[in-house]
Amino acid sequence: MLIQFKCPDCGADMTFDAQEGVLMCASCGHKEQADELKQEPKYREVQDSTEDSTYSSDSKELQYQCQSCGAVIITEPNTTATSCSFCGSPVVLGDKLSGALSPKYVVPFKISKQNAEETFRNWSKKLKLAPADFKADMKVKSLTGMYVPFWLYDLLGQGEAKLEATKSSTHREGEYEVTETKHYEIYRQVDLTYNKVPADASKKMPDTLMDKLEPYEYNDLKKFDTPYLAGYVSERYDRDYKEEFPRVEKRAESYMDNYIRDTVKGYDTVSFSKRNYQVRQTDASYTLFPVWMAYSMHNSEEHSFFMNGQTGKIVGDTPVSKGACLAWTALFAFIFAIIGGIIAAVTQGGAISGVGIGLIVGVIIGLIVVSSWKSSMKGVMTAGSSTYLNTGQSKVLRQYDHYTHTTTSKRKIENNNNN
Ligand SMILES: [Zn+2]
Ligand SMILES: [Zn+2]
Repeated sequence: MLIQFKCPDCGADMTFDAQEGVLMCASCGHKEQADELKQEPKYREVQDSTEDSTYSSDSKELQYQCQSCGAVIITEPNTTATSCSFCGSPVVLGDKLSGALSPKYVVPFKISKQNAEETFRNWSKKLKLAPADFKADMKVKSLTGMYVPFWLYDLLGQGEAKLEATKSSTHREGEYEVTETKHYEIYRQVDLTYNKVPADASKKMPDTLMDKLEPYEYNDLKKFDTPYLAGYVSERYDRDYKEEFPRVEKRAESYMDNYIRDTVKGYDTVSFSKRNYQVRQTDASYTLFPVWMAYSMHNSEEHSFFMNGQTGKIVGDTPVSKGACLAWTALFAFIFAIIGGIIAAVTQGGAISGVGIGLIVGVIIGLIVVSSWKSSMKGVMTAGSSTYLNTGQSKVLRQYDHYTHTTTSKRKIENNNNN
């Protein structure tokens, strides 16, 4: 079943407008609500007459007939929304969005194509370490707006952990420096609830990059309806919630570590010695998230970039120029060498050693700055353990901090003047 949305006033195609959040006719500007609050829709839902006869799970391709131009639209099995390759009319493939394949929620696009293009362009200009030809070539024109299938898990994280912690103090005894270290055994039993932890449900989307696109703001989470897909590409999930569970399970376990670690305070060192966690799924909702995709070729390699279609956050597989890394590090070294030289001259220290120290400091700072730029180019994970935590339903059930013993170490204080 193929669905096309036709304007009731002029008959042209209607698409979902990201900025206004409504179904809009590009020809005459007629608008309609897309969400569940809408009254009886005025748009004409044009459906083709093809029965399930063309639908066979064995067939690689599925055929539909465009109701605008009559052409045959051939789609891949996972496609749920696309456009007619002959007339460009947006189509939604309803048969792959119903029953068990019906998404529960959707986060609608909020960033328009024009907006996304601009954001990508400004972002690529600021990439200090990308090769110059890559920056010039960044093909923001080939932007595709895609609703990517995700599973949103409600999780219950229960379990216990033991930790070892120490507190140290030092004092002087004659010519010795004595360090006393108090050791503690710490125990925590927790009962934690996490809501709507996402994991992408599409084999072809890279997991780590999809994770980095988070967080999506859930106040925009809508009950799914087909008009949201009009004008975008969409796919159905090809990994079910059972297949994806191990990935969120691992994530929930690290969130539990963080939660427990945050309750252990006032020590100099803390480390886990034993964990016994159980992560259970209480719900998994099939949800579509909006993603803008861009591709760029560099040295005959394809690089892909993704933008959160709601927040504008960009992640991607950005190429790094070794020459640019080297040049920036050298620049830092040069600047610090000059500063070192000036300080040495002013304080009447050794000018050569001032330049030398400046050079070393500059190289170290340069390397640190360059490596932080490098990691920010690929995008950083911003969703953390508190993002999905349901604080009202999470607590420590049992806990203790037990002092166990003290260890002492002595170190002779060297007295340079006497040697
Ligand atoms: Zn119209
Ligand atoms: Zn057509």
